[in-house]
Amino acid sequence: MNVLDEALKVINQNRLHADLVAKGNRQLAMQNKEFANLYKSYMSNVISLARQGNFDKKLEKEKKNLDLMLKKLNIGNIEPNYSCRGCQDSGYINGKQCECLKREINKILVSESGFGELVDFKNVKFDIFDGAELIKKIYQKLEAWCNSDFKKKMVFLSGGTGTGKTYLLKCMANEFIKRGKVTTLVTAYKMSQDCLKSYACRDVFEKEALIGKYLESEVLFIDDLGTEVNSSALTINYLYTIINERKMRNLPTVITTNLSLADIRDQYDERIYSRIADETTIKIQFAGKDLRLKK
Ligand SMILES: [Zn+2]
Repeated sequence: MNVLDEALKVINQNRLHADLVAKGNRQLAMQNKEFANLYKSYMSNVISLARQGNFDKKLEKEKKNLDLMLKKLNIGNIEPNYSCRGCQDSGYINGKQCECLKREINKILVSESGFGELVDFKNVKFDIFDGAELIKKIYQKLEAWCNSDFKKKMVFLSGGTGTGKTYLLKCMANEFIKRGKVTTLVTAYKMSQDCLKSYACRDVFEKEALIGKYLESEVLFIDDLGTEVNSSALTINYLYTIINERKMRNLPTVITTNLSLADIRDQYDERIYSRIADETTIKIQFAGKDLRLKK
């Protein structure tokens, strides 16, 4: 099942649950004669007034009485209490994905990614870093980028292990998700595996699904570029396609790596190097022990 279907399944379950609870409450309340009479009168008024295209005070009063009676009878709401009022748990508003659907999609993507809990920029304690002032500036710059219109389309975070690159990545991913952007987090290793699988796959839909999310996700995070085992000509081509397509489509991409830009040119090729090194990339080098996490 693809991510969208999985997310819709959750949303549909929410809706069915809300409908079912409301129906149960209504049936329970209708066992009370007084309530049943009031409810029938209310509904027939709703229908006749709706036909005339207006509502009046009388109806409002009747509705209030119904609610009061429900309280007295100790019965919950007879209208479905949807988790999302915007789309009433349908997942779409005017044919567009509702924020709640995007949140579900992101939840699935994050749990699939294996990156664990994301981090809010607000909760970063800078005193755990050596060189806290500089780190703080970097975090502020990238938080602003997450909320920008992406004139800079890519972020390249380079530096040794233990410099907190992945931690920063989790903050950024969290920020995008808060903005309702469908966000994919993946290790370079997993992405290269998916590309190889896609290449070998005979089923056209599966073939597309395997790399589609990397091309189309509103934001893509590639963690630890350079640690994938086999950077063959094939995976290099895929990597180029993904990076290049995303730049052309103005979709932001974030890369973390232990490699320097010069290493990228050596380990991959000139095309990938030039896409990453161009002026539309924010390049941040975590260097020296100044930026290491304190023990
Ligand atoms: Zn919604």
